[in-house]
Amino acid sequence: MQQYSKKMNKAGSVTLPAAMRRELGIGHGERFKIAAASDGAIILQRVQGECIFCKSSENLITHAGRFVCKNCVRAMQGGESA
Ligand SMILES: [Zn+2]
Repeated sequence: MQQYSKKMNKAGSVTLPAAMRRELGIGHGERFKIAAASDGAIILQRVQGECIFCKSSENLITHAGRFVCKNCVRAMQGGESA
């Protein structure tokens, strides 16, 4: 697993590395559960949402901070029904 070193800013934010966000498809607006483990690790767990159009929880991408499934994206781009 690739490891990174990041510094917390004054607001308490730690930025996830862009390479990691790209690889995992993490977009802005995505929510995480945050937990402190007994060994000192801080665990970020992605919270899966649902498509704002069809309510599917599969093949989701984020757009403008909202989840949209790939079927709906394809339908919007091609004009075909999902
Ligand atoms: Zn959808």
